[in-house]
Amino acid sequence: MEKKTFSCVHCGTRNCRNHKSQYPDFCLTIGADTQAPLEESWRIYAENDEVRKIAVASAQVEAEHYCQAPRVEEIMYFAKKIGAKKIGIATCVGLIDESRAFAKILEAQGFEPYGVVCKVGSHPKEELGMADSEKVRPGTFEAYCNPVAQALILNEAKTDLNVIVGLCVGHDSLFIKYSDAIVTTLVTKDRVLAHNPCGALYTSSSYYSRLIDKPLFDDESK
Ligand code: SF4
Repeated sequence: MEKKTFSCVHCGTRNCRNHKSQYPDFCLTIGADTQAPLEESWRIYAENDEVRKIAVASAQVEAEHYCQAPRVEEIMYFAKKIGAKKIGIATCVGLIDESRAFAKILEAQGFEPYGVVCKVGSHPKEELGMADSEKVRPGTFEAYCNPVAQALILNEAKTDLNVIVGLCVGHDSLFIKYSDAIVTTLVTKDRVLAHNPCGALYTSSSYYSRLIDKPLFDDESK
């Protein structure tokens, strides 16, 4: 049997947070394997002014509006602190109404929103080699989500900060990979839980216990 690797998700002390407890034996703050990446991160904060500015702005927004401002408002405070005026919105076409509302708020607060929907370009899923049977609704035209184009269009528009509104799992990964501007998320899509993925975590010992009790995959490949 393979030896289990422990990490922060197995920690009961979280002493790194406030030094009120003790570090566990496997702690990533004091472990030999994690010293190199930790030191590299400290070097980056010390030497890279932009990274340091973003880190400080994030921490300031957290402290100044702790439990006061909803995320949509926090994004604007953050944008203001890093000097971002043109805000890219990479939106799911299914959340376009929410993105419109976000854009209206941004404009009201003096920002310049620029939104691109996931279906931009409108090319068929078959172009990616997908079979008709793999579509959400077989037998119909379905454009594939194009997060690479969303990123490249926002790059062209020279947005200062890009915000994800409900991109699918994986499409968000590609958008982040190709975006020139830094990216934050306003909405994390979860069609089943009204865009509240934590719902499955909060109920993982009750309604969603099947995620622990029953294998999702019938082989070792994941
Ligand atoms: S860094 Fe150490 S103390 Fe902090 S959560 Fe990870 S294991 Fe726990």
